[in-house]
Amino acid sequence: MSVKVLKFGGSSVADASQIRKMKSIVEADPERRYVVVSAPGKRYSGDSKITDLLIMLKAVIDNNIPYEPLLAPIKERYTSIADGLGIDADIDAEFDEIRRNLNEGCSGNYIVSRGEYLSAILMSAYLGYDFVDTKDLILFDNKGRLLIEETNAALSAELAKHEKAVLPGFYGSYASNGGICLFSRGGSDVTGALVARAAEASVYENWTDVSGMLMADPRIVENPLPIKDISYMELRELSYMGASVMHEDAVFPARMSDIPINIRNTNHPEDPGTIISNGKTGDDGSVISGIAGKRDFTVISIYKNMMNNEVGFVRRALAIVEDAGVSFDHIPTGIDSLSMVIAGSELEDKLDDILEAFKVQLKPDDINVEEGIAMIAVVGRRMFRSVGTSARICGALASNGVNIRMLNQGTGEINVIVGVEDADFEKAIKAIYAEFVKA
Ligand code: ASP
Repeated sequence: MSVKVLKFGGSSVADASQIRKMKSIVEADPERRYVVVSAPGKRYSGDSKITDLLIMLKAVIDNNIPYEPLLAPIKERYTSIADGLGIDADIDAEFDEIRRNLNEGCSGNYIVSRGEYLSAILMSAYLGYDFVDTKDLILFDNKGRLLIEETNAALSAELAKHEKAVLPGFYGSYASNGGICLFSRGGSDVTGALVARAAEASVYENWTDVSGMLMADPRIVENPLPIKDISYMELRELSYMGASVMHEDAVFPARMSDIPINIRNTNHPEDPGTIISNGKTGDDGSVISGIAGKRDFTVISIYKNMMNNEVGFVRRALAIVEDAGVSFDHIPTGIDSLSMVIAGSELEDKLDDILEAFKVQLKPDDINVEEGIAMIAVVGRRMFRSVGTSARICGALASNGVNIRMLNQGTGEINVIVGVEDADFEKAIKAIYAEFVKA
């Protein structure tokens, strides 16, 4: 039987009523055999996520403040979930163990990881699935970098022993000493992808509180259409430009084994959501898959007559930026000019030094700095087959009075990057969306 791996985010396990929905989703398909869970998230706006409370708990302990007043509401969240669902779990014993470890000076990572650990203990009891701790299965080196192949071997060997299991997201351990190591926030998505790879799953279902990705930011475009399917590469382009639906690092384990990721909505399981895959299927879709962008870039343009004949010019320019510890986003070049597009936040107090080094080391004829530029990525793997995509983008912007400051088509031909003034950012996104999606 093929296997489906599911990951439920914090909002899907926030309280008893959400967890009932989770159970009916899992039980609707016998292939849904491995379930990764987050810690309980917010039940309503203004509520606290368990992980945030645990991070506070760690701070309280670091400052030698009595921790019981903070531990009690955390325990209460789990008790109310267990009571609400009639789960037979010894929460007292679990918290006694946590208290013992707190008193013995356990690590901050251990404290924060208990959110997912307890969530998985309860969900495994509720679903009647085995509990499989990820502590000794997801392995990191001493610098906290994931050991992907060691992890895959350990996880697949363990999964083979369990027909059905619930696993906690977000943490693993240092291979060298077994101490708990965490992913960055939102990291249960990565755990889910690793489990999917280890289980050789047919799909990795990532259950959240939205029905997939949208073609544009709904704060800018009214009711944007959902993205039906998107390739791993397209997702990367859109995420880089600010569209977020999942932890960025969740894509690569799935991509390594060519496992499609399906973003689904726990509150609307009937919605198909978004499929993220190698992009070889779903050929009938629109030319563009999505639009995303960010404001506040700085464009530094360097002009020098006969630049194209000066061997090593670009390398020297890049070395200056590298020495300043600044990373750039794009470098459009002309015969006698070179521009660097850099996020404003990267430059802050470094701009003057960089400009000085350009002047001294590159001896340019002129340097021009323009701040407040927005970069918009128009992404679509079908673009390379359709003639005139860039022309349509330019036309849409021109007819809406948006001046294009930069235009760059990636060599992979899955994206066109447009630079406009910050003030035109929203107008530009609306115009491009209207041109391609709802003309
Ligand atoms: N609970 C963790 C967080 O809030 C990890 C996760 O939910 O993915 O970031």
